[in-house]
Amino acid sequence: MEGRRFFLVTMGCQMNRHDSARMAEALRGAGLEPAESLAGADLCVVNTCCVRDKAENKARAAIGRLAAWKRRRPGRTVVVAGCVAEKLGPGWLNAFSHVDAVLGPDRLDALTRVAAGPAGTPFVSTGFTAGAPADFLAARPDLAAPGPTAFVTVSKGCSQHCTFCIVPAVRGGLRCRPAVDVEAEAAALVAAGARELVLLGQAVNDYDDRAAGFAALLRRVGAVPGLRRLRYTSPHPRFVDADTVRAHADVAPLCEHVHLPVQSGADPVLRRMGRRTTREEILHRVDALRRARPGMTFGTDVIVGFPGETDEQAGETVSLVREVGFTQVFAFTYSPRPGTAAERFPDDVPAPVKAARLQSVQEAAGALADAHRRSLVGTTVEVLIEGPSDRGGGRWQGRTRNNDVVHLDAAGGTTPPGSLVEVVVGEARPHCLIGTRAGTGR
Ligand code: SF4
Repeated sequence: MEGRRFFLVTMGCQMNRHDSARMAEALRGAGLEPAESLAGADLCVVNTCCVRDKAENKARAAIGRLAAWKRRRPGRTVVVAGCVAEKLGPGWLNAFSHVDAVLGPDRLDALTRVAAGPAGTPFVSTGFTAGAPADFLAARPDLAAPGPTAFVTVSKGCSQHCTFCIVPAVRGGLRCRPAVDVEAEAAALVAAGARELVLLGQAVNDYDDRAAGFAALLRRVGAVPGLRRLRYTSPHPRFVDADTVRAHADVAPLCEHVHLPVQSGADPVLRRMGRRTTREEILHRVDALRRARPGMTFGTDVIVGFPGETDEQAGETVSLVREVGFTQVFAFTYSPRPGTAAERFPDDVPAPVKAARLQSVQEAAGALADAHRRSLVGTTVEVLIEGPSDRGGGRWQGRTRNNDVVHLDAAGGTTPPGSLVEVVVGEARPHCLIGTRAGTGR
């Protein structure tokens, strides 16, 4: 495989980005090199997502465009991976004659075999693994240095069966990785330069490997020498238990920000969504976390226009967003996903009503986020530098422990990625803060 180059196209969520990083490491380990662009590649992997309608359509469009790419050079290979690969399986080979291989999210370890085989030999591998320790693709910091922030998979799949969600169907039921393996990978990543770790799972806090529950896992990983920050995504509110709350009080690297998807603020909607939690429980758990770790902020995901949602219930979501004071809200309008339980519910909220409800949530969320950022002006915050600012100008950007994006101003000087610096916030802008390194003056 020496001399062959690969190009990865990643769609969807953080889980997919993490899977793509593992695939890139596996291919490099097998002797392939990353191509700078698709034009220079011999093998293209499209890692697909089907959580949202548009993502699946985008996947189909991206795969379709690869037909011309493949024709331009003999021997090129097209691989469809991820959730839509799992969902359609061999259907991809029927729909697109230029597709060589289809790999479900649990079957990514077969990628190196596909890369080694002759192009044009169809290969399909889908279905879920038993979740044995070897079924988790560990990060390879020996092949690719982690950035300042690295992700560690703690579980696969999900057994919650929220009625709107396709994840259990395309990623299988919950299987937890042994805590000892999670801890070992965490230690290897920190030793290789990561300063911040994010534990990753679909309902990440529904973790139990018999030797350790989620809180115990937080304590084990939080004790890795040299680790400065610890986060996890995405927790389910129903599993925020007293032990997890205590861990937030005791485990110093745990950051003062939790992304806690609530989906709705109305109990009847939460019931129809199969969330098995209530508004009161959510508020109670948020309050407990705030008491355990002062200065805690929260982000969330919200769906508006779920089947049967009334105006009043939509208003309860807005009021929950305000009551918690979420600083980051990802809000979406509901659309039925084939293969979910909610597909059978009448999609009875008209599109203009959904759009208006989305706007209400976004306005409330925008006002809260603006107020939060304004409250930080004049304070000093710890920033983990991630890299050059996407605003250019040779500046740097990073994140606070509360997950706020900060751009350093011109006085920042050279600040290598991975640096933890104290920054005086000078300005709040939409979506970010501008600050000066403490001690550098203006
Ligand atoms: S907990 Fe999350 S991943 Fe699991 S079914 Fe519910 S929404 Fe989907």
